[in-house]
Amino acid sequence: MANKTLRLILGDQLNYHHSWYKNQNKDTIYVMMELRQETDYVMHHIQKVTAFFAAMRAFATHLQSQNLKVVYLKLDHENARKSLTDNLSQYLEEYSITTFEYQQPDEYRLSEQLASFAERLSISNKKYSSEHFLVPHDALEDTFGEKPGVMESFYRKMRLKYKILLDEDKPIGGKWNFDEENRKSLPKSINIPIYKSYAHDVKDIVQVIQENGVKSFGNIDAKNFHWPTSRQESLQYLQYFHHNLLHNFGKYQDAMHTDEPFLFHSRLSFALNTKMLHPLEVIEKTIAFAQENQDSISLAQVEGFVRQILGWREYMRGVYWTQMPEYAKKNFLQHSRKLPDFYWNGKTNMRCMQAAISQSLDHAYAHHIQRLMVTGNFALLANLDPKEVSDWYLGIYIDAIEWVEMPNTRGMSQFADGGIVATKPYIASANYINKMSNYCKNCQYNHREKTGENACPFNSLYWNFLDQHQSVLGKNHRMAMMYKNWERKDAEERTAILKQAAYYLENINSL
Ligand code: FAD
Ligand code: SF4
Repeated sequence: MANKTLRLILGDQLNYHHSWYKNQNKDTIYVMMELRQETDYVMHHIQKVTAFFAAMRAFATHLQSQNLKVVYLKLDHENARKSLTDNLSQYLEEYSITTFEYQQPDEYRLSEQLASFAERLSISNKKYSSEHFLVPHDALEDTFGEKPGVMESFYRKMRLKYKILLDEDKPIGGKWNFDEENRKSLPKSINIPIYKSYAHDVKDIVQVIQENGVKSFGNIDAKNFHWPTSRQESLQYLQYFHHNLLHNFGKYQDAMHTDEPFLFHSRLSFALNTKMLHPLEVIEKTIAFAQENQDSISLAQVEGFVRQILGWREYMRGVYWTQMPEYAKKNFLQHSRKLPDFYWNGKTNMRCMQAAISQSLDHAYAHHIQRLMVTGNFALLANLDPKEVSDWYLGIYIDAIEWVEMPNTRGMSQFADGGIVATKPYIASANYINKMSNYCKNCQYNHREKTGENACPFNSLYWNFLDQHQSVLGKNHRMAMMYKNWERKDAEERTAILKQAAYYLENINSL
């Protein structure tokens, strides 16, 4: 009997250059599945489900064009309701398979599911690397130990290991970090190019999702879907970023504007997280482009971009894998308030929240500072349950896959891990939001007021948060100045602020 191999490809394993595909073998079958277990584990944005299925279908077509044999299970097939492993068992039998192979999943949930499936098999099986990350899965433990240190030292080690932006073993430009030259607010007049992307028609996929009763939320223009769903389109996105956005990437990385959902951000996270693009190719192509265009692209812009991919992205994965499964339950500050309705519909008088949430509903996208310092900041100040917050982020963003979403949400944004990712909670009052955006100018609340009818909720909630958590956060030396400022206020003002915060929290759904 011929040795027949079944190879599983998960929806975020669309690595066009994986060594699996170098050789053709008529006895190897590749299987891809659109499964309810994947559409239903949280409620997802309609664009997220659509983008995954469109990218998976394009990948399957690509493999078939390479004369590889692909079995593709679509969502409208009755077996889509069965679990991943039940379907695999059926295929193993149906095709008389003698060897099962899969790539290391990036989500703990799937990794456990497939490991226990493989363990129960009576046929031979093998797990491969997904050949994507710069810290391979089997090097995670050695690299990060039991608890990752700070991101900055990890990032410097990665720069040295991969020889990125180095002059011998020293950083080009004399320093590792150009943050102080970056992160400016947006000037009044600045030209932000609008990406005239190809428009996909994804009506068929949207129809299948809806007709099969998959619960989703958010908006979609199914005739003009703009996310890249193949490697070729992902490369076009990267090129567009180089030619039009990179020169201002770092400078305005933290800026926010009501009319500009994307600003100078790359929007490459979906292409990266599905592995259509490799992180090292993105870094190397970006550096090469910047070197050819040194007159218009400064080192600060390139370093700012490289840091996100070589540093933060790989580091967050290290946090996830060294801390799971306990990480998914962490709630250091014991927050338990339900997510207010406006997270689902954007209907709030807080202009910043309205803008960040509405654009997320429209595009399945918000950039880092909108996620961290607007929606995340509010969630933290309002003591929202980190599980509900995490599920919301996991559902709404096109790029949300648990290994990267969870450390960003529970760790960086909600401080639910008690300080593994961040040395102090990322909290800010209206002052910061006003400095970095035009939101406050168009808001019914007054960003300068802490108390009174029109006082910005972020202000009283900020001081309330500090007061409420003084017993645990008061010892953190990085928060000493904040506590000094709080203690400097007289008793009457403090009482009024806390009263205002209590009123806002009681009426959170009408803010
Ligand atoms: P750019 O600003 O152009 O940055 C370039 C690339 O750097 C991104 O594509 C991304 O791959 C990487 N990157 C930047 N920041 C981070 C970071 N903090 N962690 C990991 N990678 C980073 N990113 C996800 O990919 N998936 C998520 O589910 C996710 N959830 C988040 C939740 C919260 C609460 C916060 C604060 C951040 C989250 N991020 C997540 C990180 C970041 O916001 C997104 O990667 C970024 O906004 C994607 O847009 P972009 O491609 O235009 O990024
Ligand atoms: Fe947001 Fe407050 Fe500014 Fe309004 S005033 S946009 S609620 S920070």
